[in-house]
Amino acid sequence: MVPMDQNDFRRLGYQLVDWIADYREGLERLPVMSQAQPGDIRAAFPDHPPQKGGRMDQALAALDRDILPGITHWNHPSFFAYFPSNTSYSSILGDLATAGLGAQGMSWQTSPAATEVEEVVMDWLRQMVGLSPAFTGVIHDTASTATFTALLCARERTSGYAQGGEGLQSGEAPLVVYASDQGHSSIEKAALLAGFGRSFLRLIPTDDNHALRVDLLRAAIEKDLEIGLRPCALVAAVGTTGTTALDPLAELAALAREHGLWLHVDAALAGTAMVLPECRWMWAGIEGADSLVFNPHKWMGVGFDFSAYYVRDPQHLIRVMSTNPSYLRTAQDGQVSNFRDWHIQLGRRFRALKLWFYLMDVGVEGLQARLRRDLDHTQWLKAQVDAAPDWERLAPVPLQTLCLRHRKPGLDEPALAAHNLLIAKRINDSGKAYLTPSVLKGTQMLRVSIGAETTERRHVEALWDLLTQAAGQ
Ligand SMILES: *Cc1c(COP(=O)(O)O)cnc(C)c1O
Repeated sequence: MVPMDQNDFRRLGYQLVDWIADYREGLERLPVMSQAQPGDIRAAFPDHPPQKGGRMDQALAALDRDILPGITHWNHPSFFAYFPSNTSYSSILGDLATAGLGAQGMSWQTSPAATEVEEVVMDWLRQMVGLSPAFTGVIHDTASTATFTALLCARERTSGYAQGGEGLQSGEAPLVVYASDQGHSSIEKAALLAGFGRSFLRLIPTDDNHALRVDLLRAAIEKDLEIGLRPCALVAAVGTTGTTALDPLAELAALAREHGLWLHVDAALAGTAMVLPECRWMWAGIEGADSLVFNPHKWMGVGFDFSAYYVRDPQHLIRVMSTNPSYLRTAQDGQVSNFRDWHIQLGRRFRALKLWFYLMDVGVEGLQARLRRDLDHTQWLKAQVDAAPDWERLAPVPLQTLCLRHRKPGLDEPALAAHNLLIAKRINDSGKAYLTPSVLKGTQMLRVSIGAETTERRHVEALWDLLTQAAGQ
């Protein structure tokens, strides 16, 4: 048995593209959250691998029958859970071209286009969000990886490249990492994996708007210095996961500079909003960052995975990340970027293509129009919530995420929590929309995240109807 030939590939490939277009076209009729129970999907698959091939027709036919029931539809217009994760048609085509080329971009020489197109689009993206040319970008798989990388770079800067010697085992004073108590779990994960230790991770309390309190951070740093610790890194959030809170970046940057802290900015979701000049006040002070990350694979429209990691000092990044065994050296090493030295893994896909295709498709203006539309939808829903007597909004709404709860009269706090959980369950089980029940500083809330490419005003209006119905049941 040989693998399929190009004729089969053409036939099945066209069929699959049609299938994807049909799927997208019919999305609205499918339940947003998968209704599968644990084990349902697995049960449709044999226990052993197929011994004979030639069954691709069967595999394609099984997509509808065996796979779709186990899919939660992130591109559904009534997907309001977690965060928008848009996979636009153009980025699907970009991914297809990438897979078709099948090139590894670990070194410039292993496919010069993979490196150079990445340099081009990362510079375009830098301009699009209004960053100065002092920043240089590289594509990482996820914000989690980028934040981990940033903390490794911070550790090595503060320790004077201790990794070249005894690393963190040298018995010197411990290094400390700071972030807010609303920071994403990836920050904690990164600090632990980078060897700082939980005892030296300070999660600083936040104010009523859920932004990091600079006064408390300053006090924590001073206390750590007093007892002989070494403040090392600060991770600031522009757009926290819970409420899209904005840490006061300009003040934080000044404090970081004063104490020689590495400032890493996690703008995973919110970074995309900076394509809108009217949103850039939200990260005023960003030029004081040593590194930052945001995810075009969230709100922008570029399919997962695509995280944009920007640094001020690529040479430092390379010094921390590079090992240079003889079998990876090439004649051009002095003149080109070898992106294997800009992150953790060696092999890398040609991910720049999907951003390039996406931008060629929508243009900066098209993207701006969509983002403004989404912000508008969110403000509309905010106005409904604010005008409704029994509904409460739990956080400011600078972007496209709305945190709310229903305050049914006569219920105490535990009963309110159960009531709101039930509202989420009713809506999510209905398949008509999908939102995230979440807890904010002890309060059970409903979190609505708007920004699927296909979401129109009528879908947001329908969500508000669903919310009021589910609350009244
Ligand atoms: C989504 C998110 C992350 C994690 O993103 P990944 O790319 O999945 O690792 C980190 N921080 C914030 C603020 C996020 O919204």
